[in-house]
Amino acid sequence: MNSAQERLTSIQQRIRAACQRSGRDVQSVQLLAVSKTFPAESVLDMATLGQTAFGENYLQEALDKITHLAELPACKALQWHFIGPIQSNKTRPIAEHFDWVHSVDRLKIAQRLSEQRPAHLPPLNVLVQINTSGEDSKSGVNPADAVALCQAVASLPNLRLRGLMTIPSPTENTEQLRGEFNICRTTFNALNEAGLSLDTLSMGMSADLELAIECGSTCVRVGTALFGARH
Ligand SMILES: *Cc1c(COP(=O)(O)O)cnc(C)c1O
Repeated sequence: MNSAQERLTSIQQRIRAACQRSGRDVQSVQLLAVSKTFPAESVLDMATLGQTAFGENYLQEALDKITHLAELPACKALQWHFIGPIQSNKTRPIAEHFDWVHSVDRLKIAQRLSEQRPAHLPPLNVLVQINTSGEDSKSGVNPADAVALCQAVASLPNLRLRGLMTIPSPTENTEQLRGEFNICRTTFNALNEAGLSLDTLSMGMSADLELAIECGSTCVRVGTALFGARH
């Protein structure tokens, strides 16, 4: 296994190359390091190398890491993003401990996050998750319902709606993936034309970040390629 430094540098190079191919500024794409299933020490290694944004899917595991690392000087500026499915009885700790949530897919969850966001913290940054694969079992709102949901979310006082997120079908078929990323991008553009000022499109993981950047992603969520295989 390569060192953390080598893995981080390699992902940064992939992002830079993809931006160059698409004529985009490298600063327009943020790297979110998805640390789920990896220990706090792995986060600390990446944080020491300058990585600041970390994504987590499982609440209890995330809270353990956040509390453990909060004390450390190297982790003062970390940004925590919740990217997993959200049960409505688990919104309070998410509202209290995270900076971003990528997986809002219904109004009830957004309302609870807004009500439970502590007053001393800035508004919680949220993304609405879009179901671009058309599979019923997938979480995410249908693109046709995105405008109504996003307008409602944008009006909540303690949230700041920043954009959209999608997890495409588990396929290696590039044209299918491109089609799904483009649905998310088109929905994003339509929302901005409808008057919402969205700046974040969270798309792309270890295997498909180049394609996602080509399709307009501003935030790639990378786990395996940074931390290794999950068990
Ligand atoms: C696990 C996960 C990732 C990271 O996937 P890799 O293929 O390991 O890069 C990204 N986004 C979400 C929502 C995830 O659950």
